[in-house]
Amino acid sequence: MLSYKEKTVTLSNLERKIIENSIRDIKDFPKPGILFKDITTLLNDKEAYGVLMNHLYQRYKEYNLDYIAGIDARGFIFGAALAQMLGIGFVPIRKKGKLPYTTISEKYSLEYGFDEIEVHLDAFSKIPNARVLLIDDLIATGGTANAAAKLINQTGASCVEACFILNLTFCGGSEKLQEITPIYYLIEVE
Ligand code: AMP
Repeated sequence: MLSYKEKTVTLSNLERKIIENSIRDIKDFPKPGILFKDITTLLNDKEAYGVLMNHLYQRYKEYNLDYIAGIDARGFIFGAALAQMLGIGFVPIRKKGKLPYTTISEKYSLEYGFDEIEVHLDAFSKIPNARVLLIDDLIATGGTANAAAKLINQTGASCVEACFILNLTFCGGSEKLQEITPIYYLIEVE
């Protein structure tokens, strides 16, 4: 039997460039010193959005996933579209106070202070030991994705991989996250 790695479809250099070139850099947003990666210009570019979603579909169609979990809010856009393509369910992982039913939550540290994300307690319960792909647009310090992967595992489901379009490697988040789940990203920002 092939391992998951061997089954994956490689993103060509041209495809990577199409996606990379469609993402806009905004200096000093939301505060001085931050270079914000704006993916709205990827979404409104039908070629780049198509290349991205096709690649994600090709990669994940053999993973036997049961759900995609998307991180609030940009992870919802890619995650929900991919779930529909794969014919599986989508679960939102939201900032505290947004989900209406019983939740479990996880705190994580920010540069100053804490933030908290939540998931519905029964979100993955229709499928025992559900295999879940976690998705967001970007990993920086990894705090958000770390908390999200822990939440998935706490519900009794299993986070089988965390997927990002961009990895800000200089923030070191992907190294930490790899300790709790395999990760995949398309573009590295050094
Ligand atoms: P972190 O928890 O530090 O890995 O931050 C990841 C989350 O913050 C993701 O949901 C990103 O969308 C957002 N984020 C962090 N840094 C940036 C950035 N430079 N540009 C755009 N989004 C960012």
